[in-house]
Amino acid sequence: MGARIRRRRRQVFGLSLPRLPPGAYPDISIHNPSPENALNPTGRRFRGFIRSGFCTLASILLITVGCAPEEAGQPPEAARTILFEGARLIVGDGSPPLEEGAFLVEDDWIVAVGHRGEVEAPQEATRVDLTGRTVIPAFVNTHIHLSSDREERIEQLRHNAYYGAAAVLSLGVDHGEAPFNLRAEPVPGAAISLTAGRGITRPEPGRSEVPFWIDEPEEGREAVRELAAEGVDIVKIWVDDRGGEYEKLTPELYGAVIDEAHRHDLKVTAHIFSLEDAKGLLEAGVDAFAHGVRDRDVDDEFVAMLEERPHVVYVPNFPNPGVERDLSWLAGTIPPDELVELQEGIGQGTEPSESFRIQARNLERVHEAGVTIGFGTDGSSPWMAHLELEAMTWAGMSPHEVIVAATRNSAALVGLDDLGTLEAGKSADFVVLDGDPLGDITNTRRIAAVYLRGDEMDREGFSARLLAEADDPR
Ligand SMILES: [Zn+2]
Repeated sequence: MGARIRRRRRQVFGLSLPRLPPGAYPDISIHNPSPENALNPTGRRFRGFIRSGFCTLASILLITVGCAPEEAGQPPEAARTILFEGARLIVGDGSPPLEEGAFLVEDDWIVAVGHRGEVEAPQEATRVDLTGRTVIPAFVNTHIHLSSDREERIEQLRHNAYYGAAAVLSLGVDHGEAPFNLRAEPVPGAAISLTAGRGITRPEPGRSEVPFWIDEPEEGREAVRELAAEGVDIVKIWVDDRGGEYEKLTPELYGAVIDEAHRHDLKVTAHIFSLEDAKGLLEAGVDAFAHGVRDRDVDDEFVAMLEERPHVVYVPNFPNPGVERDLSWLAGTIPPDELVELQEGIGQGTEPSESFRIQARNLERVHEAGVTIGFGTDGSSPWMAHLELEAMTWAGMSPHEVIVAATRNSAALVGLDDLGTLEAGKSADFVVLDGDPLGDITNTRRIAAVYLRGDEMDREGFSARLLAEADDPR
């Protein structure tokens, strides 16, 4: 795999970490915040304390370590420790949820997970009561398209975080330096952005000119060498004639790309449409599909080929089924008039489209066969994640299986070993929900808080700013 995210990593196991001496916290930290306050950092009571967009209550409580400017001669930053108690914990690996769970976060990291009362915390730890809530790992979206403009991309990464994503993979139309710079230096309060850089396809005049257009195997190999040198996270290829409009990558071409990628320790994910191409790609050693099979129902041969290649990850992404769906939960980031338009545009039907059904049947079939399912939404709408999660349950996956696909499985696909589960040693990236998604997957939309790398994202502040900007276009 490509270079991993490098972040400040302290010793995370055990409790032998440097800590603030007793009394070092400001007075306010001795009070256990009620969950309501802890989860509403910009609430009236604390508004005066806000210093910056991402300086949220968790860090406000620890203002001396989290947000205060460094003074010359200060001792090294001390650990910041928070014990979260009482929630139902969905670990993300498919194991039964931990009822009345507790987990300890130190700086960016989860250092202990267990039941309430079992997880030891230092005396000075901040305690956050999450009774009645459910915690899931933050999502990893392995198929999205981000802007290559730095500021726009950061805004998109914040927006993705707002809807619960810890990391997203921008799949094949990135250019310039910003994607790589942001990959190397994640922005606080924003999802990590992985990049496939420029994907590889045949010449497709009239479509994006960002990808490599290749006609010869050697051109494909050269493209991969360039991508490897840039440090992409994965290689993206398109194998699709777009309804007969273009030549598509032949087995000889994608075979060369896949071979060269593997020589550079890079995985290859393929945009596909047809079953025939999907089979050819499996023969050639592809690692993942960035779409399900879309032209027909998959057959026994395809399922058998997948079973012989247990490392391959199948990432569906559903088209709009065209049925009525309530989008009112988007009010946090979409102005009322746009929301009305969006609601009208999503469809009024009662039956999903045929295209949707083919893909749903195919997901059901490969999932039943035990194939690893990943998560990706395509497009650039951060909130699509929640519609996709729901759509996956319409294809016969249980809510729990869908959550595993969107957390552990997807983190593994893109090599983010620190993400994807709520376990000691993992990065503290999680979503606090007001409802239980195991009973109803749409409860993933009822987000009370998002924590990224140990910090609570200022969702209210982000929402307020986005809606105010929409209200007052400059
Ligand atoms: Zn795409």
